[in-house]
Amino acid sequence: MSHKITVFRGDGIGPELVDNVLKILKAADAQLEYEIFNVGEDEWKRNGALIPEEAYASFERTKVLLKSPITTPVGKGFRSLNVTLRGQYDLYANIRPVKSNAAVKTPFKNVDIVIFRENTEGLYVGVEEQVNPDTVHAIKIVTRQASERIIRDAFEYAKKNGRKKVTCIHKANILKMSDGMFLSIFKEIAKEYPEIEGDDKIIDNTCMQLVMNPNQFDVMVMQNLYGDILSDLCSGLIGGLGLVPSSNIGSDYAMFEAVHGSAPDIAGKHLANPTAFLWSACMMLEYLGENETAGRIRKAVDEVLAEGKHLTRDLHGTATTEEYVDAVIARL
Ligand code: ATP
Repeated sequence: MSHKITVFRGDGIGPELVDNVLKILKAADAQLEYEIFNVGEDEWKRNGALIPEEAYASFERTKVLLKSPITTPVGKGFRSLNVTLRGQYDLYANIRPVKSNAAVKTPFKNVDIVIFRENTEGLYVGVEEQVNPDTVHAIKIVTRQASERIIRDAFEYAKKNGRKKVTCIHKANILKMSDGMFLSIFKEIAKEYPEIEGDDKIIDNTCMQLVMNPNQFDVMVMQNLYGDILSDLCSGLIGGLGLVPSSNIGSDYAMFEAVHGSAPDIAGKHLANPTAFLWSACMMLEYLGENETAGRIRKAVDEVLAEGKHLTRDLHGTATTEEYVDAVIARL
């Protein structure tokens, strides 16, 4: 049975990532039917809407979205499209696996971390108020319900995937009420999973520990802003943003995207590494139960990376996006 999915073709390197990744999905004979929409800043300039109504309607029908990076126009009063989509469809669990690839040289070996980032609240609710001309307040919202569900998902993931430890990242020593509540909920839920070690660390210490000894970390769970920052740090450990995929999962909807942004500096130059977006598509296939197809694609990518002949510039190679994609397709 084939699955209907919605695809958002965004800005910067977004369109080239979509075209190349769909080429690989077709070559792998993925049982998917695509509803493809242009979205983002360029679409807004053309047609006056950042996300056209038909694009929303398609996602509401298919419930599965493969989304390339989108640029939110700066200084025009628009709320980030990513934050909007995550909130509107209650995509509360942002899951970001960060895994070393033997083919990619970095000083860190065997990193294998899965970040669970709460996606709907914290400082990202965008509630700011100007108290007087020289003072602004930004409100951070933390609720028991949102904290419980992301923490529980992290433990459930650990249990299903044979992971040994879940670490809660926080700043409860300073933010005693907000982060304090998150941490105390973590400790309550950890008791329900005696087979998994429940650990916690303060965010600043975590940054230092990650670059000293990343191998001590397994599954990590945290609020929105900490997750945003730590996932970029973790992607640096394994060779950069070109290699980190993500899923955004809610109770009804799921969205899959690379962790990186639209990289306008390299757009149209055939330099983009499509691996993060391709692995996001693999996470989508696994979500849809198409594990065999995802497995074949992952194997082909691993072989191309291990061979090292067709690496893109961010991985110190000289291949264009298209040469890399053709090498993956040849392996399929
Ligand atoms: P955002 O705020 O939208 O997350 P950002 O400011 O983090 O975006 P990115 O667009 O992710 O920035 O780009 C950061 C750097 O990483 C840029 O120099 C960009 O060229 C590079 N980069 C990002 N994605 C890729 C990719 N897929 N392949 C190669 N280089 C990339």
